[in-house]
Amino acid sequence: VFGAGALGQLSEVYGDLAMSAGAAERLTEILAAEPAIRAPSPALPLPEPARGAVTFEDVRFAYPTRPEHAALGGLSFAAAPGERIAIVGPSGAGKSTVFQLLLRFYDPQGGRILVDGTDIARVDPERLRARTALVPQDPVVFSGTVTENIRYGRPEASEAEVRRAAELANAHGFISALPQGYGTQVGERGVTLSGGQRQRVAIARAILKDAPILLLDEATSALDAESERAVQAALATLMQGRTTLVIAHRLATIRAADRILVLDDGRIVETGTHESLLAQGALYAQLANLQFTDALDETARGKEPRSRGE
Ligand code: ADP
Ligand code: MG
Repeated sequence: VFGAGALGQLSEVYGDLAMSAGAAERLTEILAAEPAIRAPSPALPLPEPARGAVTFEDVRFAYPTRPEHAALGGLSFAAAPGERIAIVGPSGAGKSTVFQLLLRFYDPQGGRILVDGTDIARVDPERLRARTALVPQDPVVFSGTVTENIRYGRPEASEAEVRRAAELANAHGFISALPQGYGTQVGERGVTLSGGQRQRVAIARAILKDAPILLLDEATSALDAESERAVQAALATLMQGRTTLVIAHRLATIRAADRILVLDDGRIVETGTHESLLAQGALYAQLANLQFTDALDETARGKEPRSRGE
């Protein structure tokens, strides 16, 4: 999938979490070679059965390239199994970093991250990632058939399981309309899928993977109304019975959350429901006015702009 020279682009790609869950898994071996993510020895197993509890305890983290700047400055929250937590905040607040740490692409310099009560720093990253499904903002499709693209979610899945996942993801209709249906080549050398179609392929992958923890980076770009409805319905199916952390940009997603965390400058500055946060009239209310595009910057808030790094 990745040709020579792709390695150099990896950190950038991961930085944006622009990767599909499938690609992330295929890259696990490469990343395991990165010194930042040591395979712990001995590695602890995650408890069985998986429940999907996630806890951040005073997590402090700076990226290796910017050691002087805290991307997360003491972040604490706990997601109970099955809970839906929306994460909102201005650009650069640390939202994507929460996902990067939870997937163990980096280890924090302070504090702990627990999954089902186990410190993930002591868990084999591959085992950890098997318990999580990531639906990125702008999912990648690979050169291959539609079936192969969905099967990245669980390589041993049968044709029938792939098809069932596509149906649940509201993808079966458009897939059936492709020239060779599920056997159609997509990606670089094949049919180009629209943004909404790629999102539903990524959702089908995640449904197939059936992981207890779902990390969802909601698309910011507008889809046509029909695609938007299909994606939202697919996401509702996907979130059923899973612990969901969603970097949310859409009011409907935020309102459906059990709890909203408002991040600013690497810290949680407000938590609550949509109504309670609006009533506070603080950062969340400002973000709501801007429709959660996460484009709010310091100048808009009347502060001195701070450097966003190089
Ligand atoms: P958000 O997703 O809320 O926009 P991020 O988690 O991407 O914010 O970024 C948090 C902070 O970390 C920002 O200051 C950003 O510039 C910085 N940052 C993000 N990714 C990297 C990286 N790969 N290397 C260095 N700094 C980074
Ligand atoms: Mg981000």
